[in-house]
Amino acid sequence: SIKGSPESETPRDKLIGGLLTTDFNERSCVSRYHQSLLYRKPSPYKPSEYLVSKLRSYEKLHKRCGPGTRAYKKATRNLSHDDGNYASKSVGECRYIVWVAVYGLGNRILTLASVFLYALLTERVVLVDQSKDISDLFCEPFPGTSWLLPVDFPLMKQIDGYNKEYSRCYGTMLNNHAINSTSVPRHLYLHIIHDSRDEDKMFFCQKDQALIDKVPWLIVKANVYFVPSLWLNPTFQTELMKLFPQKEAVFHHLARYLYHPTNQVWGMVTRYYNAHLARADERLGIQIRVFSDQAGYFQHVMDQILSCTQREKLLPEVVSQEESKVNISQSQKLKAVLVTSLYPEYSDRLKNMFWERPSSTGEIIEVYQPSGERVQQTDKKLHDQKALAEMYLLSLTDKIVTSARSTFGYVAHSLGGLKPWLLYQPKEAKAPDPPCIRSTSIDPCHLTPPSHGCDAEWGTDSGKVVPFVRHCEDRENDGLKLF
Ligand code: GDP
Repeated sequence: SIKGSPESETPRDKLIGGLLTTDFNERSCVSRYHQSLLYRKPSPYKPSEYLVSKLRSYEKLHKRCGPGTRAYKKATRNLSHDDGNYASKSVGECRYIVWVAVYGLGNRILTLASVFLYALLTERVVLVDQSKDISDLFCEPFPGTSWLLPVDFPLMKQIDGYNKEYSRCYGTMLNNHAINSTSVPRHLYLHIIHDSRDEDKMFFCQKDQALIDKVPWLIVKANVYFVPSLWLNPTFQTELMKLFPQKEAVFHHLARYLYHPTNQVWGMVTRYYNAHLARADERLGIQIRVFSDQAGYFQHVMDQILSCTQREKLLPEVVSQEESKVNISQSQKLKAVLVTSLYPEYSDRLKNMFWERPSSTGEIIEVYQPSGERVQQTDKKLHDQKALAEMYLLSLTDKIVTSARSTFGYVAHSLGGLKPWLLYQPKEAKAPDPPCIRSTSIDPCHLTPPSHGCDAEWGTDSGKVVPFVRHCEDRENDGLKLF
């Protein structure tokens, strides 16, 4: 156990600059203290002392209010008989936010981190819907307590059905003028999904937050990384500046704090890494996501990948045997290419290309793809574990190419602290020109953010409010990102 061992044996690197607490047993979750140490280069992004102290106080709060505590029991009592006017009843000292697992794994990882940051900012306790396979994927992040929402949570049976039409949905309540400071409900549903209405997005406004802050229980369904929009709220912005002086590193730090793959997933990561990537001189990741009705292999996507990687000098071209410059005695550089995709055809072509002909630089290129599942099977345990293992493996590469608007790719590059080359989304079955763009930020993009300001500034372009929250390179018109 890390607990109780002298400071000299727990170098700060092992705790990622103090990001991690020493209060866990090491063997129960091997990845927690080992991932940074053994497989990652030290990150150029350091967590602030303020973030570290905020995390330590959050851990105390979670322990005090978490499942099984008196505070939790008090807060959940009579919750299912929410009559919309709890002012007279005592609900206890703790406030909560429940994260519900919806959409693919990349979406889930981004939204849970967003919800956690919101909880840090508003001193709420985050609890995680465990009806999905979250505990097969991640270890508990907070010591001496649990982040899993107990299965006997009073609203459990209803949560699945929550949607925009639900009478306690924030946007719907605004529409119906059903909420004001004199009638605050005990629970509210927040809909932060790609089809959110302007009213749902009022959530990000300062005035609305003053009201929402009074609600003891928030239940969130989200499928977008909403951190960039929190920075548009002046109250949050002041605090966020202190927490994250390096603005683009928000997800990078939160993910390394929160997400520790279970021993089973970590075994998959390390076995693959040691078998195929460890000995290479350089590692390139390529994440290929095809958003299309009839997905699969497309020649224009293959062309786009080749044109991007060759123009950006990420991969060499191939030449004829006669043109090959390799001299036998020279030791050749080994470059491992890790491809992830639902389809195996892309990496098969790449592999053949570098087998059939020599590279122009003399480098040896080896191409690997861990799985090719063909179809998304979210909530199937092994499928999700493979997806997570692949996101982690991608994050361990030196350079990375990812697909536009894919949350799978966002998680991989941001976790790794990598500025990705983003492959533009093809239009009309043609390879875009240019094929890709190098991002200048490691943070993920908030897809479908508010496109308006709050009240008086209604109609302002939300990408022009503060200088470091701008439109994303891969979603010029409707994405926001921290730079
Ligand atoms: P997004 O749809 O690209 O934003 O990413 P998500 O992770 O939210 O949803 C896509 C889901 O499809 C993943 O969670 C996996 O279940 C599956 N999937 C997509 N691409 C890959 C891949 O490269 N490898 C694996 N193993 N699964 C993938």
